[in-house]
Amino acid sequence: MLSSLPILNHCSSSPEGATPAGPAHVSAGSVAPGPRTNPVPPGLHANSVAAGLRTGRSASAADGASHLESPLTETDLLHWLREEDDSRLETLYAAADRVRHEMVGDAVHLRGLVEISNHCVRQCAYCGLRAGHTKLVRYRLSADEVLACARQAVEFGYGTVVMQAGEDYGIGRSWLARLIRQIKAETPLAVTLSLGERPVEDLAAWREAGADRYLLRFETSDRELYARIHPPLGSRPSDRVELLRTLRGLGYEIGSGVMVGIPGQTYETLARDLLLFRELDLDMIGVGPYIPHPDTPLGERLATRPEPHPSADQVPNTEKMAYKMVALTRLMCPQANIPGTTAIATLNQESGRELALCRGANVVMPNLTPVQYRAMYEIYPAKACITETAQHCRGCLKSRIRSLGRTIGTGPGGRRRLA
Ligand code: SF4
Repeated sequence: MLSSLPILNHCSSSPEGATPAGPAHVSAGSVAPGPRTNPVPPGLHANSVAAGLRTGRSASAADGASHLESPLTETDLLHWLREEDDSRLETLYAAADRVRHEMVGDAVHLRGLVEISNHCVRQCAYCGLRAGHTKLVRYRLSADEVLACARQAVEFGYGTVVMQAGEDYGIGRSWLARLIRQIKAETPLAVTLSLGERPVEDLAAWREAGADRYLLRFETSDRELYARIHPPLGSRPSDRVELLRTLRGLGYEIGSGVMVGIPGQTYETLARDLLLFRELDLDMIGVGPYIPHPDTPLGERLATRPEPHPSADQVPNTEKMAYKMVALTRLMCPQANIPGTTAIATLNQESGRELALCRGANVVMPNLTPVQYRAMYEIYPAKACITETAQHCRGCLKSRIRSLGRTIGTGPGGRRRLA
């Protein structure tokens, strides 16, 4: 699954290292591979990309709107998801990087991640935190420990603290509301929550306390596949897409995303995932490869009964597929904040994050979780950055970002909506 892609010094389509442009031929709906000189993917009505490449100018807000009016079609998406030729894919990556530059700028926003608890009541078939994983040692941070992490985020110049956990009802509504209020009173940080499918009353109370954003991956838009890997909790149906709409109604910025290469996931499904990102008008979108955990039902089945001849429709869980998804996500949702995920960095520790940043991403999430807990937050094995201290993560990520010619974002770095 590892790629031999080189470490990058600059993104290919950043102004300093712009890829020479050929004629910017753009044909809506076309799926045939175009000439190598075409720097814009088939089907992208990206007038601003085309004009920007010809003249080297930055797009205006009005140009940017053309991205929003003319998205890639499902057929275009399928074409690009199935594309394997690296030189053709470079045109896709360059277009995504250009749109990223035009729509969200060169700043890379740092979100300090605090994994506040690894308890979970759910049984998601792919996840190492699932309740059925009895070998896992469980932990839950105290309010003081979380506050210390938030203060560290401020000290390190991060604009956001992300509190993440399994669906843990040991994290009580009032306890967390108090903690959010304290963080908001003491710091200028934006507060992002990622705590699973909590009841609306909890979500409303946390929003009321000042939480700004909520992350909830729907993982796949295929209802049947979704149901196979997300068993319900008792009689409570699981509908993450509906919950995302509720979160939006409560006033949160909403983030979601999918895994790439889940057994049973087809290219058609992945194309529909991208269409759903756009339909939901997501503010943040994370995509990363599926990494099997051996102590989960899905990982166990893959290890003991591997599919001898996977169907041609099965999406592989490769690094390359993840980059294609990052780039297509940027083209479908130009204004969204898109992280270079830890899962990508896990497949390619040397340059995965940099490559994602050069292919549409504009966010990274340095880990602030106290080191003694990191290894216990094992959604999948061999996760990147589980032994490094918060100080080390900060230094490492900042120097990686600067090596790309990008800047470090300041302030909360919320979704920017262009007219
Ligand atoms: S994916 Fe989330 S809800 Fe599901 S088992 Fe893992 S931590 Fe729990």
